[in-house]
Amino acid sequence: TISLDTRSYIYDDTSSSQYRGVCLFVEYENKYLSSVSIELLGTGKRLAESLGVPLSVILLGENISKDALFLAEHGADIVYMTDNIKLKVLHEEIYADILIKTIEKYKPEIMLFGASTYGKSLASRVASALNTGLTADCTKLDIDREKRYLLQTRPAFGGNLVATIVCPHARPQMATVRPNVMKDIIKKQIKPGKIIMNNVEILHLTKSKILKTFFEEGRQTNLNQANIIVSMGKGIGTVENIHLVEELAKKMGGAIGATRALVDLGWVDYNHQIGQTGKTVVPQTYLAIGISGAIQHIVGMANSKKIIAINKDRHAPIFGTADYGIVADAAEFIPILMKEINIS
Ligand code: FAD
Repeated sequence: TISLDTRSYIYDDTSSSQYRGVCLFVEYENKYLSSVSIELLGTGKRLAESLGVPLSVILLGENISKDALFLAEHGADIVYMTDNIKLKVLHEEIYADILIKTIEKYKPEIMLFGASTYGKSLASRVASALNTGLTADCTKLDIDREKRYLLQTRPAFGGNLVATIVCPHARPQMATVRPNVMKDIIKKQIKPGKIIMNNVEILHLTKSKILKTFFEEGRQTNLNQANIIVSMGKGIGTVENIHLVEELAKKMGGAIGATRALVDLGWVDYNHQIGQTGKTVVPQTYLAIGISGAIQHIVGMANSKKIIAINKDRHAPIFGTADYGIVADAAEFIPILMKEINIS
């Protein structure tokens, strides 16, 4: 573990002491509060309690009062809600502008986002506008209570080490947090938090315009919620064998995962990639087929409940992480496995 200072060249302790509290941006995913936002609610509460400050959330959208109430009942001490038809679709320029204005007004010392596609993009816009640091893709967050630092832990240098990063002087301390890694429990509060109408002016002159929103269709991609993931690597041999793996996943009721090697080859879409630069998953069962077990892949799936690896090389590093190992040729073994599933 090493310590890096993201903004050591700025030194202004007088202004940083005006900042108090932990704040989250709560994001929607297909009309529902996103799972990473719910995870952040538990983590934000832990951090706020550790610092002895309130937890606030920023909620933007249309017809969102029910969700604001849910957040106020489940950990948020303050919900800053902007409910407006113009916020129905997440337009990054408009959302970033509201976030910047809200942060400037309420001055939280810590500001967190989910490391989703939008969360990452918004966080970098906001951090740049506020001239503060941003640690992307954190896998662990803690507090140094004496210095009031957010200890932001994430894999660094190609996943070869784990770095704990602090932002000593610029405020707020900002981080995006990977889905599925935070395990803090969300509790229903006896006394719900306050809901504050955050009536900021909504930007109407934007450089970009959203014409249409649509969701990518693909092989079962909902990896975050999948109980079973059948994941493949270069050891599947040929692009044709992908259908074999898909058939197996269908029989097992699982989603398809892949290594970056297959994504780079253009055989599988990026949204199936698991690992440091892909998704982090925690299914009940992770079946790794023809995957070597590079650290950059392992960091995305190591917390799966049961890991079963199929690899023709008995010395493949994946066997060091797997609960069960099968030394076999993938293309020969998959049909045998499917036959067994058919019988049982
Ligand atoms: P290989 O490493 O080539 O392994 C193929 C395996 O298949 C071998 O173990 C081999 O024994 C086995 N095999 C071969 N033939 C058969 C057969 N017939 N039957 C059974 N087994 C067989 N990788 C990711 O996955 N996710 C990431 O997010 C990611 N991010 C990265 C970020 C950075 C900054 C860097 C530098 C790398 C990243 N990588 C990532 C790449 C990673 O380092 C590995 O290169 C990649 O995971 C290897 O993929 P693989 O296991 O499919 O291929």
